[in-house]
This record gives sequence, C-alpha cells and structure tokens, in this order.
Amino acid sequence: MSQKSEIAHYTWADKIAGELLQRGKKHVAHGMWTPSGYFHIGNARGELLVPAMVARAVKDAGGSARTHFLADDFDDMDKVPAGIDVDAEKYKEFLGKPLREIPSPMKGYDSWASFFTDQALGGIERLGEKPKFYSVYDEYRKGTYDKAIKIVLDNAGKVRDLWEIITETHKPENWLPVMVVCESCGRSATTKAVSWSGKNLAYVCSEPREYAKPCNHSGEIIPHKGNVKLPWRVHWPATWFVFGTTFESGGKDHFTKGGSVDTGRAFMKEVFNVEQPLLIGTEFIQLGGEKISGSRGNVITPEHWLEVADAELLRFMMISYQPGTAIDFDMHGGKLFLLEQRYHEAEQVYYGEKSLGEKRDAQLRREYMLSQVKKAPKGMPVQLDYSLLATVVQMYPHKNIGKIIELLRSLKALKKENLAKDDENRISAKINHARAWVSRYAPDDMKLKLNEAAPAMDLTEQETDAVFTLSNELLKEWDEAGLQSRIYEIARENDVEPKRFFQILYRMLLSRDHGPRLGHFIVIVGKEKIRAILDTLKK
Ligand SMILES: [Zn+2]
Repeated sequence: MSQKSEIAHYTWADKIAGELLQRGKKHVAHGMWTPSGYFHIGNARGELLVPAMVARAVKDAGGSARTHFLADDFDDMDKVPAGIDVDAEKYKEFLGKPLREIPSPMKGYDSWASFFTDQALGGIERLGEKPKFYSVYDEYRKGTYDKAIKIVLDNAGKVRDLWEIITETHKPENWLPVMVVCESCGRSATTKAVSWSGKNLAYVCSEPREYAKPCNHSGEIIPHKGNVKLPWRVHWPATWFVFGTTFESGGKDHFTKGGSVDTGRAFMKEVFNVEQPLLIGTEFIQLGGEKISGSRGNVITPEHWLEVADAELLRFMMISYQPGTAIDFDMHGGKLFLLEQRYHEAEQVYYGEKSLGEKRDAQLRREYMLSQVKKAPKGMPVQLDYSLLATVVQMYPHKNIGKIIELLRSLKALKKENLAKDDENRISAKINHARAWVSRYAPDDMKLKLNEAAPAMDLTEQETDAVFTLSNELLKEWDEAGLQSRIYEIARENDVEPKRFFQILYRMLLSRDHGPRLGHFIVIVGKEKIRAILDTLKK
C-alpha cells in the first residue's frame, strides 16, 4: 500500500490538506498568538498543533508547506492578566502600550512579550514543533507591513464600507482604519488618524480609553516601519497578505456572523485582491468545564503537561478530536488516564497487535504517526497503566526503577521480556509522571494512605469470618487476578455481599469506601503487610 492511499483522509488534518492541495502545491500554515500571558495547551491546539499537523499532512500528501508561529506582540496590553505574579497597580501606567514595550514580569527579559514568548517557544519545541518564528512588532518595524498599510489607507473608503456592512456598525465619513503610535506618549489606542494625503498621515492623540488617557499630541508622519499599526480586523488579513498565508485556524469566537473572519475574508478579496486562506475555527479546551484562559489564570502550559505526560499524548489528543470540537479535559480526574488508554490502543493498532477494523485501524495508525515527536520506535514500546502506577508510586515513594520494574512484573503489568534502553527510559519517565501527578493533581479519593491497624468497626460474625478467611488465604501464593476472584468467593462463602466485603476491606486498609483494584493493591503492598492489618481485627 502506498503512503498516499494509506493516509487518504483518515484524519481531519489529511482532509484539510486535501482541500489545500486542490488550491495549489505550496502552502504557508499560520499560528498567531498574543503573548499577554502564558502559552497554554489551548493555545497549543489552535495556534500550534492544528496548523503544524495540517502542514505535515500537506507534505505527506506530496505538497510543500511551511509553518509560521507569530507572536502578536505589537498588540496593546489592555489589562494585567490574572494568575501572573505582578503588582497590577504598578502596571496601570503601561496599559494601552504594545506588549513589547511593557516591562517583563520576571527579571532577565526585555519586555512583557519577550518573557511569555520565550516560555512559549520553549514549550513549542518540547511538543516536537519548530515553526518559523516571527515577532509581529519586529515585522512592522522592519517594514514588512508597509505595503499593506498603504493599500489600506489608499482604500480607506472601501474598508469603511465593508466594515460597516459586515459588522452593522457606523463609522464616521472620514474614518481611517489605522492606529498611529503617538510620538509623544507611545500609545496607539488613544490616537485618531485624521487625514491621509497619499503620503502623509496626520493624527491626534485625543481618544480616551477606559484603561488609558490620551496626551493631546498632534502630528504628521509618513506611515512606515512600525509607526502605524492596523486594527485587528485589518491586521489579520494584512498578515495573510504579507506572509502569503494559505491556512490558519482561529478561535471559534472569530467565526461568528460579522466577526473578524467575515471582515478578513472581505478585505482579502476587495482590498488586497488576493486569494483568502483556508480558515477553520478551533474550539477551546476546557478544564473541568471552564475555558482555559491566560487572563483567567487557570492555565496548563506545555511544561505543566510534560511533568505528568508525554508530548505524544497531548498531540494525540489534538489529532483525535476535530478542531471544531470543544475538549473537556480534567487533570484531576480519570480523563488523563483514559486518554492514555486510547493512545495505547492506537499504539497497539500501529504495531499490529490489535485490530478494530480496516478503516478504523488506518485512522488510528495515522493519528499515532502524527502524534510522534520523533520517528516512531521500531518495535512496540512498553505500555503501563497510569492509574496502577499512581498506586505503586504512592505505596513506594522511594523505590528505585529496578524495584518498581520487579513489582510491575509480579503484577503482570509488565510483560515484555527484554527491556530495551528506550523501554527503561519510558518506564522511568512514566514513574516520574505518576509521582508528579499524585503530588499536583490527584483528587483526595485517589490519594492513598495505608492504615497501620484497622479502625474500630462494627462487623457481623459473617463479616468478621470473611476477613479472617482472607487473612489465612494470604498465606498462599496468589497472582493478582486469582486473588481478586478469591475475594469475591470468600464474600459469597460467608454470606456477605461482595460489594460490602470490599467496602469493609477498603475501610480496614485505607479508611475509605473505595480504592484501587484490591487484587493489585494487595500484591503491590505485599501480602504480609496486608495480613498484619487484617489481623488487628482480632485484638
Ligand atoms: Zn499621545
């Protein structure tokens, strides 16, 4: 089977690549992000991985594609985002200025934007991508946008008409859709361009904003090299125009009727006279039902993610959901474990160890490929169950990897005979992930603390007999599965509801009603230790 027929439209990225290739062979996929706060996994979806995966799919299908990552650092700061450890009062004087001209929240960086951009670029690389980076601020200053700004000013009437019709708002007769950077106070949000001669642009700094005051300066400039910027609705299509963008995904909020996608498309066609890029809306990632947002402060950055899981897993999440679907994730609950189980399934399919039907297999193989940061390993890597590891590391916080491997073998959770160096690295990484997860995200009902002795309990004679029977049975050799079914039998033999028996055992061992799979748990902790606790019931 040739690679081309294999990848025919099995993922959304391949479908989009197919559409792009009908338009032409060469593509530029954009991600643009505003460095006002931390680059988080929601940004990593729309502004990084969606365009990167589309570009990869274009290349795999025989086209050529570049990916760009643009920091929109000429954008103004209009508020100090939550969740960033700075004195918001101190920053008030900078509101209304470009993010690149605002002091960094941390020492060692030139500006607010530089700090967050540096954090973003580090995360991007660790997620396995190397898009070409552009600072919008620097590009304006270099003159990259000069041509677009002149076109906009020369066609100001047309821009105004389209803007009014599409957004159903009114703009004054002589309105010019540019923002001059005031030569006196450095703000652009407070200025108004008043006349355009075809060469010179006159402006006044006269427009009060909620967050910034005008300085009343008036002047005249030749618009070039970053002394003028474009408002968002024009800036976005101007960016497509100057970079030759053919694909971009944008937040779904831009796609509403009369939104910036509608105006952007119209300006591309009527003002810049070039073909518009293919645009798709990308939904947010929600955490526990709340939108992740840099300005809310509930961010999970790539670095946070990589403390508890591999980059491949995040990539798999992105490729296995349509970009237009909201992902409801939760670092505390079982969603991370479930995602990893789905990834493991794709991995088994990729290595031919499982089949879910021809079409689904092809899709999963492709999703697995697009999830890889490096080349996929030659043979199937070891797979470990996340929730099991989370139990193991809590019972043995200090055990080294060799001891944990022994334990996993005794649990039959690790079946592969000869571990390659890569396997050992993977196991070691997973142990570290599980440790970090337990300390950062584990909910109370996943936190395990073994009792030294059983708490006082009011048990029936049958229930007590069942506990003693189990204690005696633990003198024999058991594997996890055999033990698990023996616990059920012991309950029934003593006329105790199995559910009730498990509850009793969890209370005796962990002082709670539920817990990890008991067969596993007893093997992990060790039969002797468990017996010692069960036997305290006698005293
Ligand atoms: Zn001013």
